[in-house]
Amino acid sequence: MNCILQAVQHRIELAAGQAGRDAGQITLLAVSKTVSAAKVRELALQGQLDFGENYVQEALDKIAHLQDLPLIWHFIGPIQRNKTTAIATYFDWVHSIDRFVVAQRLSEARPLAQGPLNICVQVNLEAEPSKSGVSPEGLPELAAQIARLPNLRLRGLMTIPRASMEWAQQRAQFAALRRLFEALQVQFETAGHADLHAGNVQFDTLSMGMSADLEAAIMEGSTCVRVGSALFGNRI
Ligand SMILES: *Cc1c(COP(=O)(O)O)cnc(C)c1O
Repeated sequence: MNCILQAVQHRIELAAGQAGRDAGQITLLAVSKTVSAAKVRELALQGQLDFGENYVQEALDKIAHLQDLPLIWHFIGPIQRNKTTAIATYFDWVHSIDRFVVAQRLSEARPLAQGPLNICVQVNLEAEPSKSGVSPEGLPELAAQIARLPNLRLRGLMTIPRASMEWAQQRAQFAALRRLFEALQVQFETAGHADLHAGNVQFDTLSMGMSADLEAAIMEGSTCVRVGSALFGNRI
């Protein structure tokens, strides 16, 4: 057993315990951008199956090298329109949707045999210009539009908060995403079924928390922590 993987799993278990939650409800997404296929394989052989990538070309090379393993690939980076076919074909999840046109292209390009592509909408909580993401104000309309696309399954929300060393600030940002998530759950529960494409909303995922702040995210209800440097070391 790789002790680094164990240490990260232990952090998740401790935080879940403190939050009174079941650690089994929290997916560890190993963020493998800039990491070699060989290192991904090493971690996969220890039982880690969910991997996140930010750059399409880099990811496609790795996915090709690791086809023999039952890995679940998550796209978490900014999406260029000309890459939507590759993303829709080779990934199982996309966490970084912030525009309807991109969602529409992914839905059109998704091979039917693979079933719906799992989608999280990325939210830019504090309108930081350096970050992608829809504004909290624009979120309800975008989520409702995505819910009508046939080959996507809307799963939840994702955010990359302003980096902070302060526990209270970390929690406040994650709490803000959780409240948006809960409001949308109510919106979908009360929406007429005509508004939703049958079965294409399964709103159960809060993708938040990274190496430096996963404990605060878990306290606020994260169901998916995206961890890179704590597993693979600092990126150069
Ligand atoms: C790189 C990245 C991560 C991982 O960040 P670490 O601080 O290395 O854990 C998580 N989410 C996204 C969207 C990223 O781009």
